[in-house]
Amino acid sequence: MNIETRLRVLEKIYALHADFCGPFALACGQGCARCCTANVTLTTLEALRIIRHWHAQGRSVPLAALTAAAQSPRFQPALTINRMAALCLQGAEVPEEAADPAVGPCPLLEADRCSIYPARPLACRAMVSRDTCAQGGAADMPEEILSANHLLMQFVEALDLSGASANLADALLFLLQPDQLAAYTSGAPITAAPPLAPHHAIPALMIPPELRARLLPLAQAVQACIRNLALG
Ligand code: SF4
Repeated sequence: MNIETRLRVLEKIYALHADFCGPFALACGQGCARCCTANVTLTTLEALRIIRHWHAQGRSVPLAALTAAAQSPRFQPALTINRMAALCLQGAEVPEEAADPAVGPCPLLEADRCSIYPARPLACRAMVSRDTCAQGGAADMPEEILSANHLLMQFVEALDLSGASANLADALLFLLQPDQLAAYTSGAPITAAPPLAPHHAIPALMIPPELRARLLPLAQAVQACIRNLALG
């Protein structure tokens, strides 16, 4: 699947996530940015989408903010969701990866608003809450959405097998290097080394048995989209 097709599948996955969350009464709204921290992560395909968004909008890249974020404390994932799923299946211990919630704001947050909102990655779309986090201090996420997030993150990773996941600032700064961007968009596997966590295929879909009836149609919708767009 070429990069343009993969970007179209990514759009579709975002739309499926929005459709899935639509019926829930959620408190999230404009101007609430408590979950917009420097810990946010994304895949290289999602980073490419953000870079293209800047170009399409004629916006300059916030290099100073990204560079400052990459020099500050932030969550840097060592394992992807599919790698964790594989370790679980093998009965191996999954290392704990803790993110400090007290790190600073996301470098793409401007006056409490996301500066790339239409191009924000799945990790941002996934952060929803039934209650206002500013009041309770933490998100109250419905179990179904939490599981749907995990499921769709597995597909987003598998869609980008030649890529990697990383902290948002690290991934964007990596792909903003012209030689890395050219190699990545040509389909060459990136040389994934820390702070980039290499991607893996889906070893098994992470669907809790009690949510099977609810989540299987979502997985099937993604699979159908991949089939249709890959053949089209
Ligand atoms: S990319 Fe946008 S939505 Fe995501 S954490 Fe940053 S400011 Fe918030």
